[in-house]
Amino acid sequence: MLRIEGLTAEIEGKQILKGIDLEVPKGEIHAIMGPNGSGKSTLSYVLSGREGYDITGGSVTWNGQDLLAMEPEERAAAGLFLAFQYPVELPGVGNANFLRTALNAQRRARGEKEVDAMAFLKLAREKLKQLQMSDEMLKRNVNVGFSGGEKKRNEVLQMALMNPSMAILDETDSGLDIDALRIVSEGVNALRGPDFSALVITHYQRLLNYIVPDRVHVLMGGRIVRSGGKELAEELEAQGYGQASAA
Ligand code: ADP
Ligand code: MG
Ligand code: MG
Repeated sequence: MLRIEGLTAEIEGKQILKGIDLEVPKGEIHAIMGPNGSGKSTLSYVLSGREGYDITGGSVTWNGQDLLAMEPEERAAAGLFLAFQYPVELPGVGNANFLRTALNAQRRARGEKEVDAMAFLKLAREKLKQLQMSDEMLKRNVNVGFSGGEKKRNEVLQMALMNPSMAILDETDSGLDIDALRIVSEGVNALRGPDFSALVITHYQRLLNYIVPDRVHVLMGGRIVRSGGKELAEELEAQGYGQASAA
């Protein structure tokens, strides 16, 4: 399970996370909701190990291991998938090679045998079929000229290939249309099971119509101010965040 205790973090000397406590047990999907500027993306970046964030206190453990001490590739090897809010475009880098490199980095870190180009294609085609996506995607350069929906599909394909035991997704502010919401949700729901957990970070309740969470947490001003079941998301949608800290 993922356990966050008293996590505080700063950006450029400004404290953003002010003591986050959160546990996501194995097999559960938790959502974090909150108004703009509450620190949702900061939390996801801190969990993904992005540079520029100073962790000033608290701890994050993943199955008992100190997550914050792990390199990004170690996080992937340990079964974590951290999705990017803004996918990078890599001109000149073939998507198949890019995805295979990511998969093999995970395998190497796990001491597993790397997959060659042929084996990768076979695996990728299987996943593409499951996700009802076209093979075309593998032949193109990474995200270059991809529509928003195609970038999302590519991210979901990468997630399916890595077969994570936990996915952390920040969908805030990304202006997902209904198609993209479906793509992301189907990708997450396909992985759902007793050995998979997820932390879905979102500004909007509507994503949670597709990925129905076990628990919902409200982040405001760098703290979790309220937690509840899936009905909390609907309540927030109806009433806004103004009331969220009152109960
Ligand atoms: P959310 O994802 O909930 O909208 P963010 O984590 O993006 O919130 O931002 C939380 C706070 O941190 C905001 O007040 C924002 O202005 C500030 N912040 C985010 N990134 C930076 C940065 N690179 N430098 C300075 N302040 C930042
Ligand atoms: Mg924001
Ligand atoms: Mg954000």
